Amino acid sequence: MPEQSVLVVEDTQEIRELVTTVLERAGFAVRAVGTGADALAEVRRDPPDLIVLDLGLPDADGTEICRQIRAETPCYVLMLTARAEEVDLLIGLAVGADGYMAKPFSPRELTARVQAMLRFPRTMPAVTTDPVAAPEPVRRLAELEVDEESREVRVDGAVVDLTRTEFDLLAALASRPGRVLQRETLLREVWQTDWEGNLRLVEAHMSNLRRKLVAAGLSSPEIRTVRGVGYRLVA
Ligand code: CA
Repeated sequence: MPEQSVLVVEDTQEIRELVTTVLERAGFAVRAVGTGADALAEVRRDPPDLIVLDLGLPDADGTEICRQIRAETPCYVLMLTARAEEVDLLIGLAVGADGYMAKPFSPRELTARVQAMLRFPRTMPAVTTDPVAAPEPVRRLAELEVDEESREVRVDGAVVDLTRTEFDLLAALASRPGRVLQRETLLREVWQTDWEGNLRLVEAHMSNLRRKLVAAGLSSPEIRTVRGVGYRLVA
């Protein structure tokens, strides 16, 4: 398996070096830059599998860099914030990061989050009473096709441009059509965490996913919200 690559974007030298060191020790190929401009240049030169992105950069707002990265590559974005309270605000802004981590964080926690995001293909832990159906490379549900092998989603044959997290959410729903998946279940399966502070992250990504599917012309199946519980895919 080729080395997975991580781009660290952080202007504070000690943090940049610490993150680089712990991720290299965990076996990732790590590159590090200190500005938003350099981050975009690196992403364009050679897109990494995951970006650890500091919110407070000297030349640009991390949220703006995140949006630009999102427009150019499907890689995972783990955003570092100075305070835990900023996380809610950022989720509300629909910046599009796949995960957030507030400073100070422990190196072990950071490594665990990065490994969880890059675990691929992901194994589905047995958290619902419904067993996951046997792996099928392509699932067809009415107008929708979810191709686990190429990680493509098609609506009436046309590919829909989704981020990795959006794809993972849809694949989780499509593996058990009609069944309600709790938000907590999705957190565990897609983000590999059960920290409930992340529940709004599920909602934010689900709403982006829905918007993209509707914009692609999908009318059936649709993602239904089961208020206070979770989501299900209904044909
Ligand atoms: Ca900073």
